[in-house]
Amino acid sequence: MTQRSRQAKTLADWQAAADTVKPGLKTRAFINDEFVDALSGETFETINPATGEVLAHIASCDAADAERAVGHARSAFRAGSWSRLAPARRKQVMLRLADLMEAHRDELALLDTLDMGKPITSALGDMAGAIGCVRHQAESIDKVYGEVAPTGDEALALVLREPLGVVASIVPWNFPLMMTAWKIAPALAAGNSVILKPSEKSPLSALRLAELAREAGLPAGVFQVLPGFGHTVGKALALSMDVNCLAFTGSTAVGKQLMQYAGQSNLKRVFLECGGKSPNLVFADCKDLDRVAVSAAEAIFHNQGEVCIAGSRLLVENSIRDVFVDKLLSAAQGMQPGDPLDPSSFMGAIVDAGQHRRILDYIAKGVAEGACLRAGGEARDGAGLYITPAVFDGVTAAMAIGREEIFGPVLSVFGFDTEQEAIALANDSDFGLAAGLWSQDIDRIMRVTRRLESGQVFVNNWAGGDQTVPFGGVKQSGNGRDKSHHSLEEYSELKSVWMSLSS
Ligand code: NAD
Repeated sequence: MTQRSRQAKTLADWQAAADTVKPGLKTRAFINDEFVDALSGETFETINPATGEVLAHIASCDAADAERAVGHARSAFRAGSWSRLAPARRKQVMLRLADLMEAHRDELALLDTLDMGKPITSALGDMAGAIGCVRHQAESIDKVYGEVAPTGDEALALVLREPLGVVASIVPWNFPLMMTAWKIAPALAAGNSVILKPSEKSPLSALRLAELAREAGLPAGVFQVLPGFGHTVGKALALSMDVNCLAFTGSTAVGKQLMQYAGQSNLKRVFLECGGKSPNLVFADCKDLDRVAVSAAEAIFHNQGEVCIAGSRLLVENSIRDVFVDKLLSAAQGMQPGDPLDPSSFMGAIVDAGQHRRILDYIAKGVAEGACLRAGGEARDGAGLYITPAVFDGVTAAMAIGREEIFGPVLSVFGFDTEQEAIALANDSDFGLAAGLWSQDIDRIMRVTRRLESGQVFVNNWAGGDQTVPFGGVKQSGNGRDKSHHSLEEYSELKSVWMSLSS
């Protein structure tokens, strides 16, 4: 299918595509190259949050399935069918996988949209990110060299970079396939055996990916997918004595648990991409307030606000605040939620009833705490879990809506008078994932950028980046980095070899 015909798809086209895809959904775990039921025979429902429809009953893996998959992953690693394959050959297989993902791009996007409610246009954007990541990591791996250390003549010392072994990737539901690709692509490229645990709220695209990985030629046991709950199969992987690395994207609370599990078990490497409460700083000297207002609204309302780097704290210089907030409200007005299958919907449905309730509770708390709700924050009647974009003004750092990650379409606007005050407000957070700043003053841009406690800083944009730049947080937003060649470092270890030489 060409790009042109894809863009031209209408709501009716996507509805028809959904009807075609549903009967063939993959529902079983993928272990050692086969789709199998959970050993317990248990299943769980996955539900379309835009309609309430039960899409499928998915295998609910637990500790027994985890043990089985870890055994196969270890055997595959030791056998060397992937771990010792020449990097250039691993590259070929991974490029085939990327091509297959590209060929099934609309289907994969549709699975994520049906499973967790994101707009189809946004899901298609995720696919570009996921496929780009697999290609980038595949292309990188045969360009990684070891080192010869600068020793004297008495020795030759090599520094080799080797895969870790068995990597368990535990991922969330907000960008199901893209977060998956960010984790599995560098881990596989580096030669590891990977066990993926998708979120119980969005398992469908991961299971279809397993089928594509098999078709691409990944050997048995090298890539396995275990759907199920965090407290069952996720915990079992985290406590396993034979998993070498936990690569996690999800909430800070679960990230903290995973570090404890690693300490209780085998000191596996734990690398975490967690939550955020990202500040977006708008200085009075920025250019084109209309454009900045649209970007600031997109920064929070994209993907219904279910984004780790959502620009959920908007810090505006008081001299322009009233004018700016009016522009922001008008931008937000054009970002209402709608049917996720409709290509004109900017926001879709909230992932499930629990998250929907949680967001509405935060909105009620914001009002009770004295913030001014300028617009939105309403649930829509009907089966679909929708919430209109909410803008609170006059928020302070003491309020829950100003400090805690809501993970929904709720924006908190703060005012500031000086640059120092803006920096202090921005850094007054447990999180440090992303920050934005809008200004035309290059001295200010450099000063503020250096002082922001954040894994990434967006200057005169929000969420800019591509496969060449690392992504990750500081403080309680986590450690380690996805994307770029730096992510390969997370999934490999150095081995030092000292060879004595006789003179
Ligand atoms: P979550 O922490 O509830 O779940 C994430 C994954 O961990 C799921 O697969 C879940 O089943 C699993 N899990 C839960 N409890 C577990 C346990 N005890 N042991 C092992 N695994 C367990 O997060 P979520 O609700 O799926 O996703 C939302 C969170 O993810 C937000 O906090 C968001 O900021 C964060 N996130 C971060 C990034 C990033 O790159 N920093 C990207 C996307 C999402």
